[in-house]
Amino acid sequence: MDHAPPRPPAGAPPARINLYSDTQTKPTAAMKDAMMRAEVGDEQHGDDPTVHALCDRMAALMGKEAAIFLPSGTMCNVVAILTHCRPGDEVIAHKHSHIITSEGGGHCAFAGAMLTGLEGERGMFTPETLRAAIRPRTRYAPPQALLEVEQTANFGGGAVWPLEQLNAVAAVAHNEGWSTHMDGARLMNACVAAGIPAAEMVASMDSVWLDFTKGLGAPLGAVLCGSREFIGQAWRWKQRLGGSMRQGGIVAAACLYSLDHNVERLAEDHTNAKALARGLRQVQGVSVEDPETNLVFFDIGATGMTVPRLQEKLAMQGIWVSGMGNRVRACLHLDVTAPMVEDAVGAIREALAAA
Ligand SMILES: *Cc1c(COP(=O)(O)O)cnc(C)c1O
Repeated sequence: MDHAPPRPPAGAPPARINLYSDTQTKPTAAMKDAMMRAEVGDEQHGDDPTVHALCDRMAALMGKEAAIFLPSGTMCNVVAILTHCRPGDEVIAHKHSHIITSEGGGHCAFAGAMLTGLEGERGMFTPETLRAAIRPRTRYAPPQALLEVEQTANFGGGAVWPLEQLNAVAAVAHNEGWSTHMDGARLMNACVAAGIPAAEMVASMDSVWLDFTKGLGAPLGAVLCGSREFIGQAWRWKQRLGGSMRQGGIVAAACLYSLDHNVERLAEDHTNAKALARGLRQVQGVSVEDPETNLVFFDIGATGMTVPRLQEKLAMQGIWVSGMGNRVRACLHLDVTAPMVEDAVGAIREALAAA
């Protein structure tokens, strides 16, 4: 089995309207300029000033004691689980969470963690559902160690955990003596949509990370935050996994740039997502989920066209969307403008009319 990602088919035009993912954003000239000017050192030797500036800024933003720079969000999750858990420990998350569905089983492979997925609408669950998952503390049951939540919930349609519900599930976990961890790949989308500062949003979390390669538009990097003790231990796992970098300041500068310029503008992506959903609702046979942030999920089952066929037809016009089972996902980000959204609605209507 070949696990390498497929290359684009020969002859397909380059993406003109790229709704595939907010990971597809390209660094702007201004961001590259900030990277060019970055002061750098040896990150794993502890003397890259730009990486330190990014970590200090992120710790302050999240209201945590310390932070660590890592190459990707996936590595943040695996480092966090390795640090919070011992082999055999149980981690409780939503059944559609990224750690369960999309990280190659790394948490079992590396941390020996047992991942349990809870049911719940839009990628979230209630304190009652979590309470029902508490096991007796006997030698028979796996030791329960960690609650994991995703903000926003990706496969939940980019849904935002209401702060009260987030705090309520964290309280259940802490009451049992478990730790709490947030996959904050799109945390700033949630904060902008809800109008809640990040530190307040994550106050009930023992650890949290933010991805810079999603809507924030940087080419690489994610930062994991937590207590000084937690981040001190996380450094050993970063080293063991080969995540320690050298002149990491080159990319940390892009992340700092994105915090200055690309956070508030996420509101535009949310507006564009709502416009896309409104447009798609007018298309016969399409059933659209209400977008809360920058992700728009829609079902085309009633049109008789399959998701891969629609993707192919759109790709021939330079429009990329992603397929998630029988749902289509369109993702808004800083390289997609309001006129492009209108264009995309027209192209989708036409492609489906042919079905
Ligand atoms: C993208 C994503 C990740 C993984 O982040 P990478 O930087 O791509 O490794 C984890 N969780 C969620 C919810 C994501 O959307």
